[in-house]
Amino acid sequence: MTYAVAAPLCRGVFSTFTINSNSKLFTGLRECWSREVYVQSRRQHGMATDDFFARVKFRFVGCCIGWMFLWVCAAGFCGPIEHVVIVSMDGARPDYVLSAQSSNIQSMAAHGAFSWWAQTVNPSVTLISHASMLTGCQPGKHGINWNTWKPEAGFVKTSTCFELVKKSGGDTAMFIGKEKLCHIAKPGTVDKFERVKGKAEAISTAAAAYFMTNRPALMFVHYPDPDAAGHGFGWGSTQYLESIKNCDQGIGILRNAVGQTGLASNTLFIITADHGGHQRGHGTKNMRDMTIPWIAYSPEHVMPGEIQTEVSTCDTAATAVHALGLKIDPQWDGKALVEIFIPDKVKDGRER
Ligand SMILES: [Zn+2]
Repeated sequence: MTYAVAAPLCRGVFSTFTINSNSKLFTGLRECWSREVYVQSRRQHGMATDDFFARVKFRFVGCCIGWMFLWVCAAGFCGPIEHVVIVSMDGARPDYVLSAQSSNIQSMAAHGAFSWWAQTVNPSVTLISHASMLTGCQPGKHGINWNTWKPEAGFVKTSTCFELVKKSGGDTAMFIGKEKLCHIAKPGTVDKFERVKGKAEAISTAAAAYFMTNRPALMFVHYPDPDAAGHGFGWGSTQYLESIKNCDQGIGILRNAVGQTGLASNTLFIITADHGGHQRGHGTKNMRDMTIPWIAYSPEHVMPGEIQTEVSTCDTAATAVHALGLKIDPQWDGKALVEIFIPDKVKDGRER
């Protein structure tokens, strides 16, 4: 039936090409398209190599196969998101991320969903903010109200994104530059927890090696660099901008690792920060302390463009869990940024 409809249509197309075979368009096409493949194929089958009609038909069929392949990919056969990598650049303020040498981050923003106006929680300090980022809850709920490593104080009170992924059978990992973030890694929820004494490059190298070997469903990577430079030399100082550049290079290491495993099309990157800063500190409600970058990058699954809704750091955990096809904890304050995903590419409740 399909052939009965398609055959006359194709003959009509071929006739049109034949009639206009001396036109400039047709001459251009002949010059642009490689002739070698066509001639070789015809010779193999003992056919004349100057058959105009057959050559056009040969190309037409090739085009149809190519378009069908692209259509199949676009229709969702490239696979769901199986891996989420959350990168937190400690103390990275969005305006300085944009003014520093940060080609990886800016390229990911240009090809992903982004907000340069996302907000962290109050007080805007490292441990409390990261707890909100990874539990999806405001500080009053997750229970962390201190900003130092206190082993006796225990862990966050609410569920974490690691916990939900772990319960679904996924492998989880945290590579961090500050020991106090251990308060977020509840026992039994993080398969690989490593505090790396170093900067973004060393932390990225360790995380990249783990990703390539273990392919975790959820990996969190924390760079302490910008915060240290901000406290030491001031937010916006030369040293601070250099630290952003180091983070950007670290992200490049992670992207390469994901690419080398062949999982780039099934991986979502979320690039963000725990807080901004001004002068030589942070922790207040000042918008320079509260405003953070938030970028979601996965070309097969995320629609490029500025996120139109308000973004909270609490949305990070919810969006990561949603991307992996899991339901978020209804207790969480954060929301999954469902609107950034290409429709029907990411759905809650997918079997893992
Ligand atoms: Zn911090």
